[in-house]
Amino acid sequence: MSQYPSNSHYPIVPPTTNFRAMEENGPQIMARGKGIYQWDKAGKQYLEGMAGLWCTSLGYGNEEIAETAAEAMRTMGFAHMFSGRSHEAGIRLAEKLTEMLPMEDSRIFFGVSGSDANDTQIKLMRYYFNAIGKPEKKKIISRHLAYHGVTLASGSLTGIPVNHALFDLPLPGFLHTECPFYYRDSMDGESETDYADRVLVYLEKMIQTEGPDTIAAFIAEPIMGAGGVILPPEGYFPKLRALLDKYDIFLIDDEVICGFGRTGNAFGCETFGFRPDTMSMAKALTSAYMPLSAVAIPESMYQAMVDPCAEQGAFGHGFTYSGHPVSAAVALKVLEIYERENVFAHAAKMGAYLQQKLQHFSDHPLVGNVRGTGLIAGVHLMKDKETRTPFKPGIAGPTVIAACFENGLVLRNLGDVIAICPPLVITEPEIDELVDKLGKSLDSAQEKTGLKG
Ligand code: PLP
Repeated sequence: MSQYPSNSHYPIVPPTTNFRAMEENGPQIMARGKGIYQWDKAGKQYLEGMAGLWCTSLGYGNEEIAETAAEAMRTMGFAHMFSGRSHEAGIRLAEKLTEMLPMEDSRIFFGVSGSDANDTQIKLMRYYFNAIGKPEKKKIISRHLAYHGVTLASGSLTGIPVNHALFDLPLPGFLHTECPFYYRDSMDGESETDYADRVLVYLEKMIQTEGPDTIAAFIAEPIMGAGGVILPPEGYFPKLRALLDKYDIFLIDDEVICGFGRTGNAFGCETFGFRPDTMSMAKALTSAYMPLSAVAIPESMYQAMVDPCAEQGAFGHGFTYSGHPVSAAVALKVLEIYERENVFAHAAKMGAYLQQKLQHFSDHPLVGNVRGTGLIAGVHLMKDKETRTPFKPGIAGPTVIAACFENGLVLRNLGDVIAICPPLVITEPEIDELVDKLGKSLDSAQEKTGLKG
């Protein structure tokens, strides 16, 4: 459905896109949005079932947020936080976050994206362990299929092959352990808890082989989003937490997708019952109206860096847009709306409804597994459900997504997992519409291509 003149030169190097496929098909150009709907350039309406890139939690066209941004721009379009400078919106936002976070005593570093938040996490670990005289404690363990961003360092945390290939990633010092993918990797008859124990045995072996004194931190998304909406198996996080405590390893909680209500609680770590040492946040922090990320660290970590900063003359890390005042004002407004409108409780209620409705697809011939919690879900397409045999790569997922587009539904395929992650403000009738359109799309994908269940 290209609306870009096919004889024109498309002037963009597109992010996370198959260049050749896009040249053949052209870009899909969206023109405007309202609530949970978007309209393309030709005027066709879509239910936006992916909240953009897991981020537009309050939907599109929110006048109150637009007004807040306009006012903030009029008041002070820019102010920075270098060299002891600050501003009210940034301070109030940090205060608000530290009140909300499930951490006892924290301080906030602001950035602009999830990737830079995770870069900051890595740099803070290095700085901190150098500061406390443990310079050998530097490695970071992530998981296969994790997604933590695409900069050189956060891309090294990411465990998805396409984000590494040809970029010479991961960099040294980044390790990847088992992804806890119960549906794909469990053995016949193995319970979720037994499976969780098994993957944690592999992790413990890795820690012992590498040497616990060389490992600074373990990073995890509560639900692995871009890797295929992978939920932690029963008991995984509490046992992981205990294992990391045993070896004195930090747990970095990447809440870039789960943070701010996605799983029905404010943070994913609350849903899955674990205590983070540090946290990364972005996306729904501003409902994606403005770019903003935040890293929360414990007070003890901050205090350990004070003397070294004084010796060096400064903490040599910060972005021009760290705590941008317009983004901070927007985030404050978004957090106010979450609270005022009980958005997280609404997400929990709508989430239960969505999950229950999606379960009907378990019987669909193309579907092997339906999983999710709150307002995030994955419908995993499978050639043979019994033997968990996947389709040939690159066919089933894109075919279903193309059918969704035809039916006026925006979703995203992660390989053969159809990801569903609507704005948190979605209502029951809108969920009915989403599920109905997805059902039609699965049927037509099956008919058109002869995809076999
Ligand atoms: N962490 C997680 C869990 C993500 O899902 C993403 C992006 O989807 C990122 C980090 C990177 O965020 P950004 O794309 O804003 O750099």
